[in-house]
This record gives sequence, structure tokens and C-alpha cells, in this order.
Amino acid sequence: MTDSGGDLRDELARLGVDVVAAGLVVGSGGNLSVRAPGADTCLVTSSGAWLDRLRHSDFVRVRIGDGAPVDPDSGVAASSEVALHLHTYRTRPDVNAVVHLHPQSVLLLDALGERIRLTTTDHVYYVREVTRVGFHLPGSDDLARAAAAAVADGANCVVLAHHGCSVLGGTVDMAHKRVRNLEEAARLTYRALALGRADLPECPPDFAARLHLDRDISI
Ligand code: 13P
Ligand code: ZN
Repeated sequence: MTDSGGDLRDELARLGVDVVAAGLVVGSGGNLSVRAPGADTCLVTSSGAWLDRLRHSDFVRVRIGDGAPVDPDSGVAASSEVALHLHTYRTRPDVNAVVHLHPQSVLLLDALGERIRLTTTDHVYYVREVTRVGFHLPGSDDLARAAAAAVADGANCVVLAHHGCSVLGGTVDMAHKRVRNLEEAARLTYRALALGRADLPECPPDFAARLHLDRDISI
């Protein structure tokens, strides 16, 4: 990952094409951001941007400390959820990418009070833990603060009730794989419930235990 700007925007643009194709957001919903490790600024998508059509001009660089745009004369407004991204970066120095989407199976299960089951090794490896926050108005500071508090202990997937999710990664690639696996876990859970099988077996706990022991394990 570099802070040249172009590389990071291109990484997010590729993620945007994929998550729209995968149905994780519709219309111009959702927003994305990235920071170079240790940087005091981040790049966030502009408000109203379609995530599968991102050009370099659809990103705004903002200061993580006070949220001010680095180029106030650009004429491009940062996402209405910029506070969600900024609070998360302030809370989690290890996080360098934040993906906010509206994945429908995740939201359906949450609205029904159903826990997302982690059925496969991929689900456990990438998702590990799902936290949630109750409903707060989109774009509000309350939502941003609640979502950041929900990931303060190291969780990387938080469901925002009746709205969407915020998924984090040390890299764009990790956040990308994580959000795809979060929605896949929710889709599998939904299918099992639709079959009347609430007893869907989850991935054996020995795998999660091994991940804790050996942080370098890869699958
Ligand atoms: P923006 O287009 O302003 O980023 O808003 C999309 C969204 O998902 C709001 O929650
Ligand atoms: Zn949203």
C-alpha cells in the first residue's frame, strides 16, 4: 500500500465494482475509505458516488484528526458518513480500510434478531466476530461513535441496525474479503433458517482456537 493516492483509490475502485456486482449495496449506497499506515489523512468516497463507477475525482482526502478536507476548494463533498470512518480510524490504529455497505442478508437476519452463523473456515478466518449497534440516524455522530465503540476491542465487522455494516481491515484486500465473507455467512444462515434448520452446525471451535494460537495461519 502506498500513499501516492492513485494506488489506494484504484484498490477501492476495484473493491467497489466487486461489491456492487455481488449485491452488497444498491444505487449509490455505501462508502469506502483508506489510509496509508500511520498517515494522519484518509481518502473517502464522495457523497452520492456509485461504488462501481469510482474515478479518482470521486475521492476526498480528509484529516483524521479534525475531519477537515485537505483541499477545501475541490468542490467535492466527502461522504455523509465521513464521521463513521474517522471515528473508526481514531479508535483503531491497526485499521487502514473501512467499508460501509448495505448487505441485505446481513440486515435481514439482524432485523429478525437472528445471529449470523459462521459455518465455514473462511467465515471464521475473515469474519471472526460480528458486533452490532442499535439504530442511529445515518450520517450522525451518534452512529459514528457507537460503531467505533463496537470495534474498539478488535472486532472488524459491525452491523448497523436497519442500515448496513462497517467492515474493517488492515488492508483494502482484507476488508474486501471480510465483507464478502460476512454476507456469504449471512446468506448461508438465511438458507438454513428457510429450510427450518436453525440447528445449522457452525465451524468446529478447534479452528478458531488454532487461529488464536497461530496468528499467521492462512487458508
Ligand atoms: P454517501 O453517498 O453520502 O456516502 O451516503 C451513502 C450511505 O450509505 C449513507 O449511509
Ligand atoms: Zn449507509
